[in-house]
Amino acid sequence: MLHGKTAIVTGGSRGIGEAIVTRFLEEGAHVFVLSRSEGEKYGAFAETAKQKGTSFTWIKTDISKREDITKALETILKTASSVDILVNNAGITRDGLIFRMKDEDWDDVITTNLTSAFALCRGIARTMIKQRSGSIINISSVVGIMGNAGQSNYSASKAGLIGLTKSLAKEVAARGIRVNAVAPGFIDTSMTEKLGEKAREALAEIIPAKRTGKPEEIAETVLFLASGKSSYITGQVLAVDGGMTM
Ligand code: NDP
Repeated sequence: MLHGKTAIVTGGSRGIGEAIVTRFLEEGAHVFVLSRSEGEKYGAFAETAKQKGTSFTWIKTDISKREDITKALETILKTASSVDILVNNAGITRDGLIFRMKDEDWDDVITTNLTSAFALCRGIARTMIKQRSGSIINISSVVGIMGNAGQSNYSASKAGLIGLTKSLAKEVAARGIRVNAVAPGFIDTSMTEKLGEKAREALAEIIPAKRTGKPEEIAETVLFLASGKSSYITGQVLAVDGGMTM
């Protein structure tokens, strides 16, 4: 589905990002991953890429730092002949009720989750416009649609990604570039692990599908939006949430 395409994925070291990289490599893409730490699967990713005749490149990047993003983009644009797909996946939480929330909890979450996506979209827009093709996928969240007590910073960052997605989609649609968002519900990753088994079971009860989601289920949706199979879809927010936002 992605044979010969070049993709940038932020946060591929674990969880949803790791599942996205796995599928992209299986489908024949050249993948650049931006994360701070080396993921457990990076060695295996390099092997898969070799077998598939593609490439896997990890660029150690802290996406909360503008200078890191600039450097990573320079490296990618120097080596890749095109940039076809950008997935803004990396994200963090710093939960707390608003009266207890520190300035840095707000700033860190907005900078990592939202400002980085703006910087990367801006950084590759010119290349995609020249190509007259490209697909950008921003990983938002159901809380960016519904809000969530104790997550005003995180929800604002995820709602911001939806605004970024729709505005950019309108700016670049005529140039053949599509911009969409995926809003995952409750997915089993290290981000949600810290809630504990009991809280997770209680949450699963209020999900219409009566279960939490798997990173692979998000990855399939991202693959669809990255590929030509979604060629007439842009500016959309696709909730992958077992019915939470119905
Ligand atoms: P994880 O915590 O499992 O993984 C987060 C990823 O983001 C890691 O690869 C991490 O890499 C990367 N990352 C975090 N901060 C930075 C940074 N400053 N620079 C570079 N990379 C960074 O999270 P999930 O896989 O669960 O989440 C992935 C995305 O999906 C996030 O945007 C999250 O908000 C969203 N989401 C998740 C849901 C869930 O239920 N799990 C629900 C809704 C949305 P490293 O630490 O190596 O830098």
